[in-house]
Amino acid sequence: MLDENCIFCKIIRGEIPSVTVFEDDHVKAFLDISQATPGHTLLVPKDHIEDIFHLPAQTAATLFSYVPMLAQAIKASNPGIEGMNIINNNGEVAYQSVHHVHIHLIPRYSAQDDFS
Ligand code: 5GP
Ligand code: ZN
Repeated sequence: MLDENCIFCKIIRGEIPSVTVFEDDHVKAFLDISQATPGHTLLVPKDHIEDIFHLPAQTAATLFSYVPMLAQAIKASNPGIEGMNIINNNGEVAYQSVHHVHIHLIPRYSAQDDFS
């Protein structure tokens, strides 16, 4: 089920362009419009689920099952990647700005790389 006014639902429907990293019937992964570091990717379920407080365990299991494959694929795409932060924000007090549950995959590069 999709939400008419949700930015990520619009991306899933193709109404807003995005750079797709991976997609199947259950999830979509796409580049974050504001790249914390090169390759910063968002993973979302295709169903509109607001946050972790509304996420059924089975959907969570499915969603998180894609994380290692995506992390490995992103790392393989750039030999400079030495680590990765996996982040999930829930609620505005926790810095969630888009209310469609999502996982950030943020590649980390060697300490001398400066993307600021
Ligand atoms: P949050 O702060 O909710 O954890 O993360 C939401 C993320 O969505 C932010 O990092 C923001 O840059 C990203 N974002 C917001 N609007 C768009 C958009 O239209 N396209 C893409 N690709 N990312 C977006
Ligand atoms: Zn949505």
